[in-house]
Amino acid sequence: MEAPTGSGKNSLAIAAAYAASAAKAGPVLVIEPTKVLVEQQIARFREHANGDPSHRALPIMGRADYECLFYPGGKVNAHDSPCYMLDCDHRVAQDSGMTKEDGADPCPYYQAKHEAFQAAQDGTPIVTTAAFAMMNLLFVGGWKDLEPALTIVDEAHTLARIARQLFVHQITDYHLYRIIEKLEGIGSTQTEALRAFASWLVQKARSKPSRDPRMLEQEDVVKMIALLRDVDAKQIEADTHEAIEAGAIDPIKDRAELKTLESAVRGIPNLVRMLSYSLDGEENRALNYVVATYYLEDDPEVVDSPRRRARIYLKIHAYYVGPIIRKTLGHNFLGLSATIGDAEIWTNESGLDVRFHQFGSDWDPKNTRIFIPSDGPYCGRKPRFGTRLYKSIVQGDGRQCGASGMKAARKMIETTCLRFAEQDIRVLVVVSSNKERKAIAFRMKRQGIPYLTYGNGITAKEAVARFRAGEAMVLIGTDAQYAEGVDFPAGIAPVIIYMKPTYSPPTNPQTQFESRRFTSRTFWMLQNWRVMIRSLQVRGRNIRSSTDKGVCIYIDWRFNRFLYSCLPQWLRASFENRLTLDECVDETIKLLSEDS
Ligand code: SF4
Repeated sequence: MEAPTGSGKNSLAIAAAYAASAAKAGPVLVIEPTKVLVEQQIARFREHANGDPSHRALPIMGRADYECLFYPGGKVNAHDSPCYMLDCDHRVAQDSGMTKEDGADPCPYYQAKHEAFQAAQDGTPIVTTAAFAMMNLLFVGGWKDLEPALTIVDEAHTLARIARQLFVHQITDYHLYRIIEKLEGIGSTQTEALRAFASWLVQKARSKPSRDPRMLEQEDVVKMIALLRDVDAKQIEADTHEAIEAGAIDPIKDRAELKTLESAVRGIPNLVRMLSYSLDGEENRALNYVVATYYLEDDPEVVDSPRRRARIYLKIHAYYVGPIIRKTLGHNFLGLSATIGDAEIWTNESGLDVRFHQFGSDWDPKNTRIFIPSDGPYCGRKPRFGTRLYKSIVQGDGRQCGASGMKAARKMIETTCLRFAEQDIRVLVVVSSNKERKAIAFRMKRQGIPYLTYGNGITAKEAVARFRAGEAMVLIGTDAQYAEGVDFPAGIAPVIIYMKPTYSPPTNPQTQFESRRFTSRTFWMLQNWRVMIRSLQVRGRNIRSSTDKGVCIYIDWRFNRFLYSCLPQWLRASFENRLTLDECVDETIKLLSEDS
């Protein structure tokens, strides 16, 4: 279901979850893209329950959010603990809830998981992250058979992206040689087989060094699978346990070493499985793809980062994540989003063929404006001389393009922020890269405009918190950080400036895979859809309720290519691309100074 921000999707999710829970038809899951949103959703559930104990919902997070009790001092979390290799008294049996050792303090992670699992079976809504849901409903005993009566997914447009980010397996030469060193240390028989794989990888990388991720050919994948099948992960596990019992490994002191060995025990079978899905079969095409990066010794990135210890990176990415998403969501689910856009593309991305409903809004479109200035630059590569685009953009409009287009865009952002600052109007500037973020920050500093950005010890989240608390007039961030999941309602940032659409670079591994796999038309349809969704997400940051007033100024002329057509009908009245930037600023000041 696509419905605008502030139209009550969260209340609907809560009402649906409680209704399904009351029907006692089975487990009810509420899936959020991030941990922060899980916390916010749990707070809303509590608010709605208003102290009624029959209305409860339980959160469950990933391992990194729980302390590991095996390591005293509270400094190690369950994710960093080599838990799988340890004989731990705190471990909580998932069926009985008993600790391994009678009277031991229960492991916080396994305790929370046990409670969530029991509560899920009683129909209590469980609120969790998409990552937790995908990993557990796919691979973990008990959870795999949960069969939810209803799954509610918030921000449903993010599902495919999250699954792809989650199912990436990376190994590096540094990591491999560390494992080999540890295996030698415990006298494991598996050292040679792993060394053969590592040597092949190094040889392969040296033959075609490339600091840009490069897709590997099928024959390379076949070779890697064959080499890795010679490594017996079960034997490594047995050798490690033997070493612990013999005192050759101290689980407390040698935690890092143990974690390295755990990564071999668990990672190698997983690696072989993911690699085998990267092969085209006779009937089915590859579901995953494999890319490698190799940095030469004198590469500036290696020279400038003395802490970088790896030079070869091998990554296996899941691409066709439809089966993962379908298994996670089950048969009955309600997906919610403010930005699905083209439902057909979303269906292809997520692998979910569902009934799709789009809802409008009864908000006053006069409260918001969406501007593409008529004098905005063309921030893409300069069109080739003589082409139709060249004639219309360069010769016809005299528009600045390429590097000078980018320079003009920065200048426009600078002067616009200055004008707004003079009027006491706060601005969120969203750019496409860290390089641009720094360039805009430099211009703010030069103009003496109080600004905030992250870096130098400030996280993106901290910068948002400080801005929301009233610090600075301008907040600058990339769309990777600020296009989603941050809200600036009630005048916190009534103006958003979005510099340019972010297309994946051709060196991006997923872009390489898609350009090989799809026709040019499908390829561009996908790229444009992602850019459109992001552009709409950026716009939604400052309008969170029907009383909010907010403006979004899209600087790059190229937004004209898709922005209007991807706006929902009810927002199209707010769109304007015939005014110059100065006129857009005048209109904005006028709108924001009017009484609601
Ligand atoms: S079961 Fe033990 S080792 Fe594993 S995370 Fe819990 S406390 Fe740590």
